[in-house]
Amino acid sequence: MPTEPYAWLAQSLATIHRADWYRSVLSIESRPGAVVLLAGGKGGAPVPPQQVINFASNDYLGLAGDSRLIQAAVAATIEYGTGSTGSRLLSGHRELHRQLEEALASLKQTESALVFSSGYLANLGALVSIVGKRDLILSDRYNHSSLKNGAILSGATVIEYAHCNIEDLQTQLQQHRQHHRRCLIITDSVFSMDGDLCPLPQLLDLAEQFNCMLLVDEAHATGVLGTSGAGVVEHFGCTGRQLIQVGTLSKALGSLGGYVAGTETLIDFLRNRAPSWIYTTALSPGDTAAALAAVNIVQQEPQLRTQLWRNVDTFKQLIAQIPHLKLLPSESPILCLPIATATEALKVGHQLKKLGIFAPAIRPPTVPTSRIRFSVMATHELAHIQQLMEAINSIFSFPG
Ligand SMILES: *Cc1c(COP(=O)(O)O)cnc(C)c1O
Repeated sequence: MPTEPYAWLAQSLATIHRADWYRSVLSIESRPGAVVLLAGGKGGAPVPPQQVINFASNDYLGLAGDSRLIQAAVAATIEYGTGSTGSRLLSGHRELHRQLEEALASLKQTESALVFSSGYLANLGALVSIVGKRDLILSDRYNHSSLKNGAILSGATVIEYAHCNIEDLQTQLQQHRQHHRRCLIITDSVFSMDGDLCPLPQLLDLAEQFNCMLLVDEAHATGVLGTSGAGVVEHFGCTGRQLIQVGTLSKALGSLGGYVAGTETLIDFLRNRAPSWIYTTALSPGDTAAALAAVNIVQQEPQLRTQLWRNVDTFKQLIAQIPHLKLLPSESPILCLPIATATEALKVGHQLKKLGIFAPAIRPPTVPTSRIRFSVMATHELAHIQQLMEAINSIFSFPG
């Protein structure tokens, strides 16, 4: 008889360490931005924080440290307090939530939108309420964890199709669609760990052909892609077509929270059925006001996006000049350098950090193959990108 029911935890952790899959947190000791202060050393003697150029954040437009968002959050907090004190259907609803939902619907050009406490919860809530046991979900193999777990939680039959592979999706639909009541195709619009885009127009066509719903997760696209920053739906000229859009307020919008955007009927249904909206506390006044300020900036300042894409181009041009390096295919500000092993990726991450560059090693089980992931920001200066290239050059021309 085992006498220690928790002993497996330490053993399991040791296995994670041996595979170089172990993860831990790093403390940032400044406002978010293109340059941040990373806390020095773990425990032991105090080490001064290190200034690094930040290629690790999802804050594509630099809004998380923008004084207008900060002021909006402070003003809302002073007026309405720190907490919203209850769920939206009980005591948690504020006029600010309605304003934010209206602004999101306007950005997305949809009839309506619903704000959740995070993007993760928006996906869980949408998936568990619109499909169930008798239904089918077809899911891109590289989808975000919140889509994968939402699919499992929904109780629907889940079939993964090969990444961005329309032929495979079509084959699965031909084989399985007829055996289920409703069918839902789910996909990231910008793939979060790769940076490529889903083939949205073809997905919409297939969905129509097989009488399926389509849910796209615009987490990394909102504020970033499309002329007005509405996302990949706008980028591909699919605005106004019927689909379910999900996203986050925590990436380019610099705040915290998530949303679903779509028809009034869909949103009304979610308000009545989505457990992760009904049974959780409403978004705080501060987060709501900051996100609202961000949506306005996204709509009124396209120059932020222009600068972001200029930086992405510079990054791609400069890295192309370094021999033997090839980025993964990307059409977004997420640019990944493949590295053969997790151990090697960790080593490159540490070397970059020593050279003043903050960019994470992304390893299994998050992704099938290891890589260093760079996120470009609108607020990066040319010198920041040049310094990164010098660092990459020195690491890859003098390995070890
Ligand atoms: C970050 C992310 C989420 C989760 O959003 P949060 O607001 O951080 O919970 C969902 N989907 C994708 C594709 C993401 O990248």
